[in-house]
Amino acid sequence: MQKSILKNVFYCCALIYSAQTLAQLPQDSRRPGGIAVIPLASEVQNVQYQNHPVLITQENGQKYAVLGIPLSAPSSGQIQLTTNQQPISIQLHSYPYAEQHITLKNQDFVSPSPEQLARYQHEAKEQNTIYQSFTTSQWQHFPKFIRPTQGKFSNSFGRKRFFNGEERAPHSGLDIPAPIGQKVVAPANGIVVGTANYFFNGNTILIDHGQGLISMFCHLSKIKVHPGQIVHQGEEIGLVGKTGRVTGPHLHWGMSLNDARVDPQLFLSSE
Ligand code: ZN
Repeated sequence: MQKSILKNVFYCCALIYSAQTLAQLPQDSRRPGGIAVIPLASEVQNVQYQNHPVLITQENGQKYAVLGIPLSAPSSGQIQLTTNQQPISIQLHSYPYAEQHITLKNQDFVSPSPEQLARYQHEAKEQNTIYQSFTTSQWQHFPKFIRPTQGKFSNSFGRKRFFNGEERAPHSGLDIPAPIGQKVVAPANGIVVGTANYFFNGNTILIDHGQGLISMFCHLSKIKVHPGQIVHQGEEIGLVGKTGRVTGPHLHWGMSLNDARVDPQLFLSSE
């Protein structure tokens, strides 16, 4: 009798322990725009996907590769990773991303002029350089993320978007409707690697969390940090606004991993 109580206590503690520690890693969701959390043999020192280094971390003595899967990856297809050992193959699942039809009064945001297009291309290059960067992580365990602002999360990541009837790139982030001036905080520790006023994204902040993990916050009314600044989880970085291509005030929260834009909700522990 006593033995079985002890056994139950042990199982219970083991469950709490694993729930707490596993919550550090993002959720595994092997679909375009998702994340694969892949256990690695200890001899694997590096992993690459499409010539980008892939984030490697450890939890409870187990090594993992944490791979961002691009929205452009083939649904239900396989993707290949190279390593210093055997290659790794990942099977993807299809995911029913919804369509969204948006009406914009400002036609410039649907069909930009040659000058606006040149500005956008310059800005896209600047952002891509940041997404493709790979810095040493400052953490030992994968950083746990918190919500960057209060509000109802619309399930808007990955939506196929049509602006005034014309198809454009799928939505690469998560929109959180919120009033202008509401506080936006750093969801995890990191270094501010970019602040700018972009044509489509409006006032934007980019934070590097290490090993190709970058977060992005757009349409802000105010930016309260500067490039090179170290920010800590929960620290105020800016205020919600409606700058750039928007239909109303909200925070656009993007997450990029090995240059793949992935669903930010996968970084939040499923409460
Ligand atoms: Zn958005």
